[in-house]
Order: sequence, then structure tokens, then C-alpha cells
Amino acid sequence: MNGKILDFRSDTVTQPTDAMRAAMAAAVVGDDIMGEDPTVARLEALAAARFGKEAALFLISGTMANQVAVMALTQLGDEIIVGEESHLFNLEAGGIAGLSGVQARPLRSEAGRFDAGAVRRAIRPRGVQSPLSRLLCLENTYDLHRGIPLPADYLQAMADLAHERDLRVYLDGARIFNAAVSQNTTVAALCAPIDALQCCLCKGLAAPVGAMLIGSRAFIDRARWVRQRLGGGMRQAGHMAAAGIVALETMSLRLGEDHDNARHLAEGLAGIDARLVDPSLPRTNVVQIDFGASGRDATPIVAALQARQIRIRQIDAARCRMVTHWGIDRDAVDTALAALREILC
Ligand SMILES: *Cc1c(COP(=O)(O)O)cnc(C)c1O
Repeated sequence: MNGKILDFRSDTVTQPTDAMRAAMAAAVVGDDIMGEDPTVARLEALAAARFGKEAALFLISGTMANQVAVMALTQLGDEIIVGEESHLFNLEAGGIAGLSGVQARPLRSEAGRFDAGAVRRAIRPRGVQSPLSRLLCLENTYDLHRGIPLPADYLQAMADLAHERDLRVYLDGARIFNAAVSQNTTVAALCAPIDALQCCLCKGLAAPVGAMLIGSRAFIDRARWVRQRLGGGMRQAGHMAAAGIVALETMSLRLGEDHDNARHLAEGLAGIDARLVDPSLPRTNVVQIDFGASGRDATPIVAALQARQIRIRQIDAARCRMVTHWGIDRDAVDTALAALREILC
């Protein structure tokens, strides 16, 4: 895997499994823009079935999936409601404005959830001077730095609220399998009220690249055309899709291990200093650490870990995050905890 370096920065650092490498080498492929790649077709059918939706589309990245979805579901000048800590709003190079020409209405969240009243107030009344509120964008797990899983009843309530006012609901489900596994449910159950969603293959599922857009047949037909407009059509993409099939079929089953390791990490951190972690947050594979709460500066701590071959992500002067994944086992967590104890105590 990563040699001696223990890389907790993100679950995007995962290397493809041996089964993925074998599947990629053996894949039967064709020209997917001509609709002739059987492996891509198999991945798309598998993803649609897993989520209980009509159709799916394979894309090069979660970012492109989000951008294609917004472009397929909006018109110039529309307004879309997004989370203040969402990927769509913060980490896509201004794509929603630059590519789709829509404006964002960012909403605050409390422990990952929007207030229903705030969502209602954010939906514009129709009028000649108002932008048209078109989409409610949710993310599950929510918040890059905290990975909060959102439950089915919350998603249903948000969707009801949006649908009542004629908005569509789009879900950035980059880590939707983490959300489902952590709540003992299925992605199909969680996403039942959602109109369209994306799920990343290249995070905890460990595929080298790729994301799936999933939704109605009409949405996916339009998304395929938008993807082509953005230059995202691919030819013999089956080699990459083959890894995606392994990701969906097998890697989604082991995420509970990552969550156990994250819980072990958070408990170990709390044992060093209770102020480092928020024990009240539901957890998936992300642990946010607040060194500032005990008056510490994160920068020298990150450097001291790095000197011990342990990499974590610094968010700001006070906070860091650590992510567990397929390349991080229980021993790696214990090694990191021992190093942190030494550095902090
Ligand atoms: C990683 C991520 C994306 C983007 O996926 P890429 O494949 O890295 O482009 C989108 N949304 C969320 C919530 C993510 O974590």
C-alpha cells in the first residue's frame, strides 16, 4: 500500500485492491460514447439497481458528477440551496456559477442538519423579481471535515419540503455507503426520496477513479448529453468501470471496519484530552480534532506527526481531520495514537 507512511489525510488516498487490478486487466471494453462498452453498461446497471433507481451514468469524478447534475437540472440564473460546508459550494472551483450560471443560497447546519424553517424561508416565492429556486442540494455524509451521516427521516422531511414547493432534490452522496453502513440501512432506503444523486467510487470504496450519477431515465439521458458537452465522454472506459464494479460489489461491505477504527481513534484521542474531539457527533470514517480547544497550535503537531511518517490534514490553525480507510488498519490507528500521546503529553 503506502509503504511505511500512514496516510490519514483522506480516504481518497486508497490504492486499488488486487481484485480491482485483475478486473481492470481482464475487462472487455468498447467505445462508450458509441454506447458499446459492456463493462461500463454493467457498472451502470449495477449502480441503478443498488440504489433502486431507473438509470445511472459513469463519470470521471464526483466533482464532474455534481457539476453535470446541476447543469442538467437547472437553467441560467436559477438559485440552488446548498450547505455552507458542502463540497458543491466550497471545493468545485466555482463551477455552479461558472458552468451552470446559477447562484448559490448557502444554509448553515446544526450537527449536519438544516433547520426546516430556514429551508422554507430560503425557497423564494415566485415573482417577476425573484430568482427561481430550483434545487435543494443535500450531502450525505455531510461536511468534509466531520462526515456526519444523515438519517432517512431527515432526508424524507427535507425532500417533502422541497417537493411541496416544486424544487427537486439532489444528493451529493460521495460517501453515501458510509452513511448507510453506519446507520444499518441500505443506500436504496436512504435515497428513496431523492430525485438524483452521485456516489463516489474512489473514496472509501477504493477504486482508482470514478463516480456514478443515479436517477430517473430522463435525468440520466440529459446528464449523458451534458457530460459530453463538458468533454467527459470516455471511450474504452470499461477498464476503469471494472474497478468500480469491484468497489460497489465488495468494498461497500467493509466500511464498518473504517467506522470502528474511527471510533477507536476518537476514543483514544478523548483519552489523551477530552477537549480534542466532539463526542456528541455521530461518526463515520472522519474524525475532526480541535487542538485549539486546549490552547494548542495545530501546525507543529502536524509537522511532528509527519516526522514520524504519519500524515493528517490540517483544516486551520486549530483543527485537523483524520480519516480511516482501507489503507489504515487498527494497528495504524494505535500507532498514530501513541505518536499523538507522545507529542501532546
Ligand atoms: C470527494 C467529494 C466530492 C468530489 O469527488 P472527486 O471524485 O474528488 O471529484 C464531492 N462531494 C463530496 C462530499 C466529496 O467528499
